[in-house]
Amino acid sequence: MRPRGPIVVVLGLLCLLQGAATAHDVRVRRPLRLPDIAGFRTLQCDFHTHTVFSDGEVWPDVRAEEGWREGLDAVAITDHIEYQPHKADLPTNHERPYEIAAAHGDKLDLLVIRGSEITRKMPPGHLNAIFLKASTPLVTPEWRVALRTAREQGAFIFWNHPGWRGHQPDGVARWYPEHTEILDAKLLDGIEVVNDRDYYPEAHGWAVEKNLAILANSDIHAPLNLDYHVHEGDHRPVTIVFAKERSVESIKEALFAKRTAAWSGNLLVGREDLLRPLIAASLTLENPKLTIAAGQRGLLRIRNESDLRLELAGTLPKGGLVAPETVVIAARGTSLLEIRVPSATAPGPVRLELPYAITNVKTTPDKALSYPLVVNVEVLPAKKP
Ligand code: ZN
Repeated sequence: MRPRGPIVVVLGLLCLLQGAATAHDVRVRRPLRLPDIAGFRTLQCDFHTHTVFSDGEVWPDVRAEEGWREGLDAVAITDHIEYQPHKADLPTNHERPYEIAAAHGDKLDLLVIRGSEITRKMPPGHLNAIFLKASTPLVTPEWRVALRTAREQGAFIFWNHPGWRGHQPDGVARWYPEHTEILDAKLLDGIEVVNDRDYYPEAHGWAVEKNLAILANSDIHAPLNLDYHVHEGDHRPVTIVFAKERSVESIKEALFAKRTAAWSGNLLVGREDLLRPLIAASLTLENPKLTIAAGQRGLLRIRNESDLRLELAGTLPKGGLVAPETVVIAARGTSLLEIRVPSATAPGPVRLELPYAITNVKTTPDKALSYPLVVNVEVLPAKKP
């Protein structure tokens, strides 16, 4: 027999190392990037998730792990109070899903928030109460009592999926007298402008008009990877929270102050005073001063630090320097914008204001965030042929 020992050991070690690397790769946190803005941390949160304790399909600790891996800062566990299809297999315990998820969240430094979904027919439909101290007191026949009980605990209350087809077959959200009643009684703080992959323009309009916090949540029931292809650039919708610090208390303060935005796919929805600084912190013009000879083209380099792709459009004034009417600024990269100087242009400095709006960043259902780009071009005399 030839001595094979060392080879076997080396091969075994290689397999072991490879195995270890694979195992480590499986549990990785990969956040999507959005910069902080002056005075605030930009946090990514999902305030609407389900577990097997209501009609979800995962054990609660999985929600914490999924949130951590996707790079979220906080996840709320919001099982239905009134709907428990797994009741025959799991005892009713409205406190357990949060407790189990929070214990795992603690190990990962993921913030887990206690919540419940008050699940009634329309109107008023489904409402989430989060930052609860206890969920069990919400078990009551009258939804008004449930909302008041949540309020007494200091909860933040929001209207879920106002255009959900389970309630509105045409997918159009409708505001009922009961919603006016809740609003007037100061029992409504926010609204889901996005739920899962649906954006509700009506809900967005009400958020602006009635000063409700704008929210985007997954309402996830299945394991995350079954609904969102997170390994292929897909992501769940998230509520962006501009918080003073990364803590549950700070998130709560920011929600009541309405410092939120909704991010779904490639759509960002929110107040102009929050989104403008967010975009400004994401974008850098690498060469804001260009030197271009008449009759030539120059390239403006725009760096985007964020994971949000920006789609710019604008009608440019005629007769001057020429820039494209639509521009896509790629996520996490530097994109080029071509500026053409017509040959008849007189030499000298030109301040070029490109009047773009970002069509996938909305401040109202029909208003894109205006975002002019300013470039200074030194025009040189046309080159001799
Ligand atoms: Zn739900």
